[in-house]
Amino acid sequence: MKQNGFFGQWGGAYIPEILHQTFAELTIALRQAQNDPNFWQEYLELMSTYSCRPTPLTFAENLTKHFGGAKIYIKREDLNHTGAHKANNVMGQGLLVKRMGKKRVIAETGAGQHGMATATMAAKFGLECTIYMGEVDVLRQRPNVFWMEKMGATVIPVQDGSKTLKDAINEAFRDWVTNVDSTHYVLGTACGPAPFPEMVSWFQSIIGTEARKQILARHGKLPARVYACVGGGSNAMGIFQGFLYSDEVQLVGVEAGGKGLGSGMHASRLCGHDASPGVAQGYKTMFLQNSDGQMRETHSVAAGLDYVGVSPILSDLAEKGRVRFESATDDEVMTALDLTMRMEGIIPALESTHGFVQAFKEAPELSPDDAIIINQSGRGDKDIFTIAHAFNDPSWKEFIIARAKEYS
Ligand SMILES: *Cc1c(COP(=O)(O)O)cnc(C)c1O
Repeated sequence: MKQNGFFGQWGGAYIPEILHQTFAELTIALRQAQNDPNFWQEYLELMSTYSCRPTPLTFAENLTKHFGGAKIYIKREDLNHTGAHKANNVMGQGLLVKRMGKKRVIAETGAGQHGMATATMAAKFGLECTIYMGEVDVLRQRPNVFWMEKMGATVIPVQDGSKTLKDAINEAFRDWVTNVDSTHYVLGTACGPAPFPEMVSWFQSIIGTEARKQILARHGKLPARVYACVGGGSNAMGIFQGFLYSDEVQLVGVEAGGKGLGSGMHASRLCGHDASPGVAQGYKTMFLQNSDGQMRETHSVAAGLDYVGVSPILSDLAEKGRVRFESATDDEVMTALDLTMRMEGIIPALESTHGFVQAFKEAPELSPDDAIIINQSGRGDKDIFTIAHAFNDPSWKEFIIARAKEYS
């Protein structure tokens, strides 16, 4: 990264004057942490005692036989505390907050997964915690809201605009501007103004560092290809960093194809031709926007991929041709999920399953001497409502109706 927070032409920090000092302090805290080996040691210790790290690399033997090409390995970020790679980011930021001596954290959340992870971190570190969430999302994601509140966080439903993620982001920034001295904003992915993209990617690099060691030990050489789903881009940046400077390893990011790239109902920014460069939410990247710069509605069956922007680091790596971008549709995701559950007894999150779709398309064209790695960013238990609905499971419907009757 360049000192000014740009990656090629992407990134930067387009922030209000009042936040300049805070961003300067945050950048200094980050640099000090990066230059202090004890910090990373403390981070590794925390992640191994609180979040099951290192996470395993699982050989998917049955899927490998089924597709008859490359050996398929799965990096198991689903085994983190709270069920996804998000723990890597929030715990790292928690340690930074401790160093900076702040007592309060805030965060935005869409589906609630990042809010959950932040609430656990705040509980563990004894910080006051406020989570901003669009009112529509609060209604849709009651289980996550319930747990956040049980862990002591205050969840504030945002009534503005479309009452979803982008409105929650705006409200979180408003809070931060008012409470800069006491408060740190725990941004959830490798987006936003510098230094967030670099900082979040740094904490997530723990995935790629482990995966590189693990595949060399198991397979004796580097993988031919590495696949990761891309919402904001943090889990992808996490695993890609283990292989970024090994040119023989192809890196493949898979975005939400929703109802298809031609449908207008998707969240593909770097794959396809619907996105354009823009500056919003404090940084420059490829956004799904109309010609006036108004953000467009996005769609994905996976709530965590349903976002208008993308990491500026990935916009740069796409432009340089180092990462190839593909997309997977909602229907393809359901088929791949079904197969993975039955053949391996593993339930990937709907987000993660996007990476599986593309890996399954390409595995047969590779040789059994090749290995590929799929980053399973999270577990699918949280998706039971969506998955049971998509499979049109009749007994699930009966169950929901019976539970509802208990309350009426
Ligand atoms: C939040 C989430 C994502 C999307 O975020 P990235 O920053 O793109 O990694 C992907 N998978 C899971 C399981 C998530 O919870």
